[in-house]
Amino acid sequence: MAKEDYYDILGVPRGATDEEIKKAYRKLARKYHPDVNKEPGAEERFKQINEAYSVLGDPEKRAQYDNFGHAAFEDAGQGGFGGFGFGFEDLGDIFSEFFGGFGPRQSHRPQRGADLRYELTISFEEAAFGTETEITIPRTEVCEHCGGNRAEPGTPIVTCPECRGTGQVTYTQATPFGHFTSTRTCGRCLGEGRTFDTPCSVCYGSGTQRKMSRVKVKVPPGINDGQSLRLAGKGEAGVRGGPPGDLFVVIRVKPHELFKRQGQNVILEVPISFVQAALGDEIEVPTLEGPVKMRIPEGTQSGRVLRLRGKGIPHLRGAGRGDQLVEIRVVTPTKLTAKQKQLLREFAKAGGENPPDENKGFFERMKDALR
Ligand SMILES: [Zn+2]
Ligand SMILES: [Zn+2]
Repeated sequence: MAKEDYYDILGVPRGATDEEIKKAYRKLARKYHPDVNKEPGAEERFKQINEAYSVLGDPEKRAQYDNFGHAAFEDAGQGGFGGFGFGFEDLGDIFSEFFGGFGPRQSHRPQRGADLRYELTISFEEAAFGTETEITIPRTEVCEHCGGNRAEPGTPIVTCPECRGTGQVTYTQATPFGHFTSTRTCGRCLGEGRTFDTPCSVCYGSGTQRKMSRVKVKVPPGINDGQSLRLAGKGEAGVRGGPPGDLFVVIRVKPHELFKRQGQNVILEVPISFVQAALGDEIEVPTLEGPVKMRIPEGTQSGRVLRLRGKGIPHLRGAGRGDQLVEIRVVTPTKLTAKQKQLLREFAKAGGENPPDENKGFFERMKDALR
């Protein structure tokens, strides 16, 4: 099989300038780089592109190729490209400048600490009016002993001799492709720009410590079950000088034995007697802030909802409060004395109602009613 023409591989005309060849090569290399392109054949294509550029990117080799074609490079008996002694491994480094670095090198950078989540259970009243509490959470913190320096205090921390404190090392590599410059994180100081011989005796050089930490949590009034508070920077400590994560406090509100919540309103069910319902009354009802007096209007039906304005829960954001909604339940008496029964019958008669005969059952009374 005839070997594909190098100009065809790079998609440039024979008279292309060095700049055009370089541009075409970079574009194709990006497209077929095996870390990016997982299609079958991409790696093979990537090798071909590099091989083509290794020749066309070098003026001397390009001239040879122009005169003699592939035959110009076959004398080494190694099938062309292999003869240049340019391993595939090295290409990864060269390409880090294109792709901004990939692979394990990223782990040397400063990293933001992890976010933490904590469930905080509070009472109904605390949710309504807010509270301040302290929680204890296990988290990593900056080491107290070394202050995150990672070196034992009192021992020298020196500017990294490898990168002269920049944290990055620039390589200029002479290759058959020309000179390549690539920058990577310094392997000696892992990008910190400084180095030490004696690691901290408490954190063993990690710069962080696992601790039980007490964190103040301020719960705003009006919060509801399931809502969460974000405490910026109260999560795990960052790695290598990275910022700390956040702490999310998820609020759980304990149910109240009397009150229910509906948005910012408080619902309360109040039982009254049918006499109170019929005649009206002034009663005392509990609210979140203690008992208040409330008027039951004459002729109140069971299920009626009376509103106590502004006795609900404050709005989480902004001013104002919800209401307390008092749901009236008229309780029918179950244990009546003979005297009470007598009075009720008279009461019914007075209203023109036929009082039920105590000795007749329900069905008999139904029959009477239909006669
Ligand atoms: Zn330490
Ligand atoms: Zn260094």
